[in-house]
Amino acid sequence: RAKVDTIERTCFCDSVMDQAERRRRELSFALRGAVERGEFSLYFQPQMDLETGAFSGAEALVRWSHPEYGSVSPAVFIPIAEENGQIITIGDWVLEQSCRQAVTWVRPVKVAVNLSAIQLRQRGLAERIGEILRETGLDPARLEIEVTESSFMADLDLSLQMLREIQALGVSVALDDFGTGYSALASLRVFPFNQIKLDRGFTSDLAVSDEARAIVHSVLMLGQSLGTPVLAEGVETDEQLAFLRAAGCRAIQGFLYSRPVPAGELQRVMLAPPASGLLGVPRRAVPV
Ligand code: C2E
Ligand code: MG
Ligand code: MG
Ligand code: MG
Repeated sequence: RAKVDTIERTCFCDSVMDQAERRRRELSFALRGAVERGEFSLYFQPQMDLETGAFSGAEALVRWSHPEYGSVSPAVFIPIAEENGQIITIGDWVLEQSCRQAVTWVRPVKVAVNLSAIQLRQRGLAERIGEILRETGLDPARLEIEVTESSFMADLDLSLQMLREIQALGVSVALDDFGTGYSALASLRVFPFNQIKLDRGFTSDLAVSDEARAIVHSVLMLGQSLGTPVLAEGVETDEQLAFLRAAGCRAIQGFLYSRPVPAGELQRVMLAPPASGLLGVPRRAVPV
């Protein structure tokens, strides 16, 4: 099998295929068996509750380090893994590892795991999640899965049924990258999401765009009316944070609080005292 692939690659390489397509093929080939070879690891990006300034959970983000290609961004390899089917194996590994690690955390907060469209249409996914929870001993209330609008709109009926089964396990379901799809509002009508993750595109435009500010205000109000907490993604500056807090945002994630960190570094963030500076609380003058 490996031989056939090599021949196939050699024949196509220098003739018809352009650079990008060749790269895609190489990565697609390299993804096979990558889980078994131990090439993946998980990073965790901390989330902060804006009411308390405390660590409130973390999103698991997969990292791929290939011996020859080095580290490849998930934005690049996830679509390829979705195309060649490897996402099923990778996704299962991510789910299991995330739960396994979360059990060891000194703070019993949520771990958020991204699910691909392909996984959502995979028969038996909810049962598999239930099995992972039992095997790792993670409380279902501590698991949150993240889906994007495009991932469940592709096959709405099947995906909704899957999301309901997952929610019935006691697991939360978050709507990721909110605002980037075609029918963000329709998404909120079809499923009772436990959290809305506002796409970082809106956060990054807050300083420069009246429209972005108006949209963020509306989304936060919408979340309030629906009783669905909104987390803002991609918060990088104090100004963005100040705006979001004033507008009633409940939680944030972004480089300002912390970049995604390896599992070993997460404990340091967890145990750090609430970030009062980040909360915009004026420092009390030192009494003389
Ligand atoms: P996402 O789920 O929206 O994850 C957030 C992405 O934004 C992460 O990129 C994170 O590093 C980045 N980010 C966080 N804060 C900031 C910030 O303040 N500024 C900027 N500029 N970026 C920020 P990452 O890790 O490269 O992941 C990219 C995407 O790949 C994710 O977007 C998600 O869609 C996908 N992905 C990552 N891990 C997995 C996984 O295990 N399974 C699946 N199916 N998809 C995954
Ligand atoms: Mg996500
Ligand atoms: Mg996102
Ligand atoms: Mg994204």
